[in-house]
Amino acid sequence: MGGKRPTLLVVGRRLDPGDHELRDSLTRAAQPYEFYEADSAEGRALLDRHGVTDDGLPVVVDGEQTYENATIVTLAQAWNALTPPTRSHYDLAIVGAGPAGLAAAVYGASDGLSTIVFERDIPGGQAGHTSMIENFFGFPGGIEGASLARLAARQAESFGAELQVLRGIKGGGARPEGGMRILSTDDIEVTADVAVVAPGIEWRRLEVDGIEELLGRGVYYGAGRSESVGAAGKQVVIVGAGNSAGQAAMNFADARAAVTMVVRGQSLGKSMSAYLVRRIEQTPLIDVRLRSRIGAVEEAEGSLRSIAIEDGGGSVERHAADQLFLCIGGQPQTGWATKKGFDTDPAGYLLTGPDLLKDGARPAYWPLERDPLALETCVPGIFAAGDARHGSTKRVAAAVGEGAMAVALAERRLEELAPA
Ligand SMILES: Cc1cc2nc3c(=O)[nH]c(=O)nc-3n(C[C@H](O)[C@H](O)[C@H](O)COP(=O)(O)OP(=O)(O)OC[C@H]3O[C@@H](n4cnc5c(N)ncnc54)[C@H](O)[C@@H]3O)c2cc1C
Repeated sequence: MGGKRPTLLVVGRRLDPGDHELRDSLTRAAQPYEFYEADSAEGRALLDRHGVTDDGLPVVVDGEQTYENATIVTLAQAWNALTPPTRSHYDLAIVGAGPAGLAAAVYGASDGLSTIVFERDIPGGQAGHTSMIENFFGFPGGIEGASLARLAARQAESFGAELQVLRGIKGGGARPEGGMRILSTDDIEVTADVAVVAPGIEWRRLEVDGIEELLGRGVYYGAGRSESVGAAGKQVVIVGAGNSAGQAAMNFADARAAVTMVVRGQSLGKSMSAYLVRRIEQTPLIDVRLRSRIGAVEEAEGSLRSIAIEDGGGSVERHAADQLFLCIGGQPQTGWATKKGFDTDPAGYLLTGPDLLKDGARPAYWPLERDPLALETCVPGIFAAGDARHGSTKRVAAAVGEGAMAVALAERRLEELAPA
């Protein structure tokens, strides 16, 4: 999205979905802006000053420039952030500019590889939705996910990587002669000798009013051991019944939090490993509410205060909650890759390295006299990194590590293709 601009003025209507999308994108791009409701005195004054009627909402005032019916795409166009690729062939192509793809871009470009990254949205991936990442290496005070992404994108570009933003991948795949062909949603085609596929996942969202506004302020997607630090004595609610929910519950109970699990189904055993179910049942600090769902969230001073738990019989209980963790799973964004013959597990996560072996043997289609490298997909030279990879850790640091490692392995493939 280019460099950060001075604070923009946005006039619109808060409850208009187009407005929300624009503000959400600007927030995820770490672009400062001030928002004015169109019917407020300040909003009206701004519209009058720039000669804009309500038909032009939302309006973005960027210094001397005024953009009517602004969208993130029209702004990116105006800011020259949508330039096409400069070449038709690259050493390294990357799909996705979340933490994994951005790390691959930084390391690939800094190693001197001509590098192109395709991102269907703005850079940042899930990290862009995170108001504060508190467990990322090197930031003891935490870092806003959007800022981390912006810094990483700038770093990648400073090493020469080409970031193609708002330009997704709709096709392509392995080339018979090796490497990858990429076809973007606006029909731009490039090829590359090696590729890193890092399309991540989208967390399944919980459709409850007010929950998105509280993300990072008491409401979180997923839960790990690190988040349980300092949870002693807190009221923690976990939604979900998979292993991630079970592990989160045990982590928080071990940290002496009072844990309530809200589970839609009739038992935990349906989707959770038996050993976890047993441990949960034996842990007095965990209260499991079966056949239940979250009906509402309530905030106080901008943070989560309580939730309403509805049971199968229709009764509703208001329950104090300091933290709410949503462990309801995610969906890997690998639809196009599976269509192109990449091996995945049943849930669509890309298989790599040893996971491709069957009883220790290489699959029949594997063309090389070596096993697939650690993050290599079923296609030699095409690697997967981050959350979309089967067995990945679903953490920013893990995604960054895999992006960096995928590039190191891709360079080994390049050496195979062109021995010195
Ligand atoms: C709300 C929230 C809070 C979180 N908090 C933390 C935290 O505090 N600490 C932590 O360690 N982790 C946290 N995580 C998890 C962390 O953000 C992820 O593990 C990490 O972002 C994974 O990085 P990734 O690059 O693999 O995937 P993603 O971040 O999912 O990025 C993938 C990118 O690929 C793009 N893409 C997908 N398909 C295509 C396509 N066809 N063409 C082009 N581009 C495509 C997507 O638009 C996206 O930008 C959080 C996640 C969420 C949702």
